[in-house]
This record gives sequence, structure tokens and C-alpha cells, in this order.
Amino acid sequence: ETRPGLDFLRQTVKDDMDSGRFPPPVTTRFPPEPNGYLHIGHAKAICLDFGIAEEWQGKTNLRFDDTNPTKEDVEFVDSIKRDIHWLGFDWEDREFFASDYFEQLYQWAQQLISKGLAYVDSQSPEEISKNRGTPTQAGIESPYRTRTVEENLELFQDMRDGKFPDGSCVLRAKIDMAHPNLNMRDPVMYRIKHAHHHRTGDAWCIYPMYDWAHGQSDAIEGITHSMCTLEFENHRPLYNWYLEKLELPNPPRQIEFNRLNLTYTVLSKRKLLELVQKNIVEGWNDPRMPTISGIRRRGYPAGAIRAFVGAMGVSKTEGMVDLSALEYYVREELNRTARRVMVVLDPVKVVITNYPEGKTEQIDAENNPEDESAGWRTIPFSRELFIERADFMEAPPKKYFRLSPGKEVRLKHAYFITCQEVIKDARGIITELRCTYDPESRGGSSPDGRKVKGTLHWVSCQESVDARVRLYDNLFVKPDMGTLEEGKDYLDYLNPESLVEVTAKAEPCMTDAKAGEHYQFLRNGYFTADEIDHLPQDGTLVFNRTVTLKDSWAK
Ligand code: ATP
Ligand code: MG
Ligand code: MG
Repeated sequence: ETRPGLDFLRQTVKDDMDSGRFPPPVTTRFPPEPNGYLHIGHAKAICLDFGIAEEWQGKTNLRFDDTNPTKEDVEFVDSIKRDIHWLGFDWEDREFFASDYFEQLYQWAQQLISKGLAYVDSQSPEEISKNRGTPTQAGIESPYRTRTVEENLELFQDMRDGKFPDGSCVLRAKIDMAHPNLNMRDPVMYRIKHAHHHRTGDAWCIYPMYDWAHGQSDAIEGITHSMCTLEFENHRPLYNWYLEKLELPNPPRQIEFNRLNLTYTVLSKRKLLELVQKNIVEGWNDPRMPTISGIRRRGYPAGAIRAFVGAMGVSKTEGMVDLSALEYYVREELNRTARRVMVVLDPVKVVITNYPEGKTEQIDAENNPEDESAGWRTIPFSRELFIERADFMEAPPKKYFRLSPGKEVRLKHAYFITCQEVIKDARGIITELRCTYDPESRGGSSPDGRKVKGTLHWVSCQESVDARVRLYDNLFVKPDMGTLEEGKDYLDYLNPESLVEVTAKAEPCMTDAKAGEHYQFLRNGYFTADEIDHLPQDGTLVFNRTVTLKDSWAK
């Protein structure tokens, strides 16, 4: 039965459970390699692995695919766990490591040797690679392919016992050197690496290859549906071959889906690591990074990421998703949840000459028109205010509705003001705007019904607090970072303006902002108090621009 509205992953799971191919429960796994931080692409895999299992009251294992000791580290293990929890998923006590299965995998490899299905190859890595052949040309069988079972068992034990140096031999499956699928041409199962492993220490000097470890780990854990990205599609015959030759019960099913690719960024751990190592970004959690920890720090809510991943769906073709689609879901959530406040970036002083000196009045302002329960606050208003430098022009073009000489504008929640005089310093830089206000216009309209087009945000000088505001933009200037011009490297497309920091004056209530809290800065966008540098107890207020207000994505 094909149920409309089910994507092919969910349909396959349903068919398998309906037909009884697997005993319940549906069991999936998320299998990160702890060699970097998770990124937004991993969030898609996480939402599918955990989401589909949840729909069937099933289980999801977190399995660290730690089969490559030289690149892996506990720092990455810890960050991966934190990020999955933050996304809203929980593996409970089902936390596993492929390295826990090294002994079992070793014994299974011995079984394949005993069945004449694996052999120790003493060709050099270069010879092995060269003799693999090409898609149109069969490979060349290794001269060591005919070693006896006894010889292979002994050599494999010697490999394990550390009797050989790195690269001197490998264990290979004995399949078919003329197979049209290159993955089936006697794939390597083990290589020698005299390297310290972050969990097994120096217990092993041979390490299993991904294809050998993965399906068998799935089988050990009773995984029913092993979902992965499309690049593993032509590994599936090998995945199935190992399971079949070991005659394991209820062999798991591998299903492939398309990777998430996003414009203006790269989603490759190797490249993200390079950005970190070359100090191009502040670290894995730099708010410009597409890592989960980066976008969290930037201010993207977990719910928005889940909504985005769900809306994009899955398919069998690789494509590129526009970053504005992700931003749409971020705005949608923050519009509902973020408190509105006034923060003046790059401020210039306004003096209201007809407002009494020394007087401060309290003006009521709604915290979030989208959420009544967010309540109201008061904002001080006085004779000396700050507005944004960009909200004033001495010689404005037509249709400029902000402040200019002789022009009247509305100050949000407060009064109409008219600019009477511009004061400059010796270098010609504006230091002060002298304005008058209309005392009748409190609340934003005047009794005579006078039309005022522009509305500006502002803060009172005396009560305002200093803040540092980071205006983040895309890390790269090119939308499709997957196809570069000839001779160019991805680092040639770095955006020199991906981070601009400005000073700002904020409403006094912002001294209460807690790290990680989201705000809408009126007219400027959504901002989040930085999870590291924002230290209100020391009077240091630091906000990251999460996303601008403008929405350019056509849904
Ligand atoms: P990279 O290719 O950048 O090294 P990876 O795919 O090797 O990353 P893993 O830790 O092996 O990273 O990935 C864990 C899981 O996340 C895998 O099942 C993988 O298929 C999935 N995954 C990785 N990148 C994406 C992506 N861009 N979109 C969807 N799923 C992804
Ligand atoms: Mg990997
Ligand atoms: Mg990969």
C-alpha cells in the first residue's frame, strides 16, 4: 500500500513493518564519526533517524563510528552529544561505539577467512589502488589472492599482533575483481595503523574499514533501518554481501536519501576543520559556521531547524537548498517568541530643545504584539536621546522618510519630532541633531491627524546601556559552493564582510538579557545574546545578529 504523503523512507519502513520483515520495534541509529562538530546537514540525518523511529514508537541508537583513530577525539564525542540533545532528541541509554565491536568484528573476519571469503594482501597500497581497475576495465587479481585459509588466518593474527608496519598488508574480502561496481572488487576490510585510539588506546593496531564495520555494527545492535546519504548507494551491495556471508539473522536494510546542501556555505567536515585550524573563524562554534553549535550561538532556535528540515523533505536526487528557506523558519519562530526592544546601532545624539531639562517620563511599550502573554514594559524618555546615524540625512533624496532638516518623524511609542539644526565637529562629522517635539503627539499620533511617514527607534541617553553588536553575514559570497570556477579554491570565496561589529546603545531593560536569549531589535532584525562573550554581570552586553527582518524567500 502506498500512502500519499509518505516519503520513500517512511513508506519503506511502513512496508517492512506491515510485511513483518522485521520484528518490532523499528530501530534506527545515528552514526557520526567523532572527527568534527555536527553541522546542519547532520541535523537532517538526526531528524530522520530519530523522527522516523519515534513515529513507530521505536528506538534510535547513537553510535560513534570511531574506526579511524588518527582523526577522532573525545572533544568531538562530547560536542556531538550536546548538539543532539539541543536539537531535541534523546538516545537515552543507547550510546554505542563501533570500537566496542572490534573483537566481534575480528572474529567475524576470521570466519570469512575460514570460508575462503577473505585474504591477506601484501601488495603495496599503490599497487592495490592501481590494480583495482576502472569502471570500464576489470581489475587485476592480487598474486596473494590464492593464499590458503591457514596462511591467511596466521597472517591476520600477525597483523593484529603488531608484527607488520603500517601499509605492509591489508585484509581484503574475496569477491570479484571484474565486478562492475568497484566497491565489490575485493574491498579492504582492515588496514594496519599503529595509532592511539581515543577509547581503545593501544589495544589495536588494525582498524576496520567503514563498510566492514558499519553493517555488522547495525546487525549487532538490531538496527532495522540504516538510513544514510546517497553516496553510500553503491556501497549497498557490499553492505548486503557481508551480512549475507556471515548469515546474520534479520539483516538490517540500508536506505539512502539526499544530502542537505545549503547555499553560501560548505558542509564538509574537512573544510570546516580547515576554517577552524586556519583561524578564519573563531572556532567550530563561530556564529558564521553551519555547525549546530555555530547556528545555536548565532541564535537559530532548535525548533526552527526541525521545522526547516521537515519542510525540505527527502528525495533521491542531490540538490541545493537556498539559505533563505532556513532563514524563513528562523524568522517564523522568532517572530512568535522574541521580545521586541529598541537598540540603536551606531548612535547619534538628538537633543529635544523644547523638552524640559532633567525630566524623564516612562513610556509603555508592548513586548511582543504576536504574544499577549509577553506583557508590557516601560521605557524612559527624556530631552537627550540617541537615534541611528543611518536614520538621518542632511540632503535626502525624494521619498526619504527618516529624519532630515525640517522633516518630522515619529519616535516609536513616543512623540513626533522635527529636526531644526545639525551640529558638526571640526571634521564635519555630525555630533548632535537639535529637534523640537510635539507634546500633543504622545503615543504616536497627533490630534490634528497630521501624517508622519517615518517611525524611528531610539533610546534615552542617560538611561541607555552600551552594547556590542555583531552583524553577521554569509561566510562565502558564492551561492553554490559545490561548483567552483576552474583553478579556484573554496577559500577564494570568503566574504570579507561576514562579521562587522558595531557599538550600540540599548534600552535599560537589556541589562537583564541572559546569554542565549532572543530579541527582535526593532527595524534591525533578530539578535541573540552571545552564549560566551555576553556577561551582563560585568556590564558587557554582546549580541549576535541572528537574521535580518527582510524575507526574500518565496515559499
Ligand atoms: P563529511 O562527509 O563532511 O566528512 P560525514 O558524512 O562523513 O561528513 P558522518 O559523521 O559520517 O559525517 O555523518 C553521520 C551521518 O550524517 C551519516 O549517516 C551521514 O550520511 C549523515 N550526513 C552527513 N552529512 C549530511 C548532509 N549534508 N545531509 C544529510 N545527512 C548527512
Ligand atoms: Mg564519515
Ligand atoms: Mg561522509
